Amino acid sequence: MSQSPAAAAPQVATFTTHSPATGKPIAEHPVNGPEEVSRATERARTVQAGWAALPASRRRDHLLRWKKALATELDAMARTIAEETGKPVGDAELEVVLTLEHLGWAARNAERVLRWRKVRTGLFTVHQRAALVHRPLGVVGVIGPWNYPLYTPMGSIGYALAAGNAVVFKPSELTPGTGVLLAGLFDAAVPEHAGLLTTVTGAAATGDALARSGVDKLAFTGSPETARTVMAVCAQTLTPFLAECGGKDAVVVTADADLSAAADAIVWGALSNSGQTCAGVERVYAVREIHAELCELVAGKARALRTGDEADAAYGPMTLAGQVAIVDRHVTGALSAGARALLGGPESVRAPYVTPVVLADVPEDAAAMTEETFGPVVAINPVADVDEAVERANASRYALGAAVFCRSGREGAAIAARLRAGAVSVNSVLGFAAVPALPFGGSRDSGFGRIHGEEGLRGFTSVQSTTVQRFTPPIALTSFDVPAATRERAVRLARTLHRRR
Ligand code: NAD
Repeated sequence: MSQSPAAAAPQVATFTTHSPATGKPIAEHPVNGPEEVSRATERARTVQAGWAALPASRRRDHLLRWKKALATELDAMARTIAEETGKPVGDAELEVVLTLEHLGWAARNAERVLRWRKVRTGLFTVHQRAALVHRPLGVVGVIGPWNYPLYTPMGSIGYALAAGNAVVFKPSELTPGTGVLLAGLFDAAVPEHAGLLTTVTGAAATGDALARSGVDKLAFTGSPETARTVMAVCAQTLTPFLAECGGKDAVVVTADADLSAAADAIVWGALSNSGQTCAGVERVYAVREIHAELCELVAGKARALRTGDEADAAYGPMTLAGQVAIVDRHVTGALSAGARALLGGPESVRAPYVTPVVLADVPEDAAAMTEETFGPVVAINPVADVDEAVERANASRYALGAAVFCRSGREGAAIAARLRAGAVSVNSVLGFAAVPALPFGGSRDSGFGRIHGEEGLRGFTSVQSTTVQRFTPPIALTSFDVPAATRERAVRLARTLHRRR
């Protein structure tokens, strides 16, 4: 059962979700308008007061109960995700498993990361005891995408709840059932704090209403264009904003890399989930000596994959019907600009499916290299050396994830440090996404702010700093009664000390 506020209000309108594979209707959901969304935020604020007042260990236990419920209902959740997105059930199961890992980490680590902490004082503040504490923000609004409708928003929801906040969640209009099920599982597992997580359903207008509903932070995942629109709304009330947007992730392959392992990872990183992964592989820069061999390996592996909605298919249909035209434009544009098709081409685009497309020698200014394709297409370009690979990888307006394939892990890490990306995997793809302790997020058009890890928890708090004066200081500088001679002595002392080093 959803905690949808529309359940209590007269239902003005509904929308229907459809299977991306067959087009058949799945379910009806209410279109929650500004009134329902504001009511959800107000209710969440009331429930949050009791949640924030709990000892951190009690919040942890409640969240672990919710995790247990999610694990128990793993099949139902995976089925809903698969139905709404069209992805194979196995992929949906993996999404739930990753979510459980993150929720467990957030629940178990929030107390340690956010607890009251003493800090050292300075020369003129020895009389103070200084400490900081991370306090919850209040109510966090979360606007989610459809491609990983559970894992991605839970990077904000799970961490925000663990930090003591309430959450109002607006899932994508393509995947509202996943959000409704998630909030229902929370209420069932933690009935004494029912309403702490509320799912509101609808499209852009519902998301807009959430941004205007008085939330204390808005965590957005979606395209950079929508992020700009929502951020402009948040700017009116100085509501803090987190933007997790798209990517155009590059993979750098050196001459001594294990090419078979690299090809295997590139194919999975580019094609799994029909290429609809924000940190999926879209560009590959391989040094010239091994470019041809890598191309052959990638095309060979991709050719063996089956696309469809059968249980053994590697990936399913495109979830968002409109994305098919973008994929088509990128592939057609790249080929007419001189790229070579190693596998597939415009004929691969058979809506709602797109079979694998592997391109080589794609001009760097083609849309397939500059814009997020978000489809099962990968471009493999040759470069003279690692320097050129790094330069090209960094030339994108996106900066989310990246990967390096290289014989030595140490050398791979050195290349990773030169890449402008929020997260880099060496000798794997998307390795960082499965490690809850690692923060995730990008820069430039990929957004800003971090989810996951300690930064992810702290991001849903505000820091309160306190000083407690322990004794009257020998040199009191915060009084009009300080004699001039004392002030001069203090300046002399500071000058002497700070000049040393
Ligand atoms: P989108 O921008 O179309 O929509 C995202 C969400 O914003 C949806 O819930 C939508 O209803 C809502 N929305 C749309 N207009 C709005 C408005 N004016 N006000 C408030 N809310 C509004 O994106 P999408 O197509 O759902 O998701 C795909 C995008 O998300 C891709 O670019 C992908 O790379 C990105 N993504 C990023 C990450 C990440 O963590 N960086 C993860 C997954 C997806």
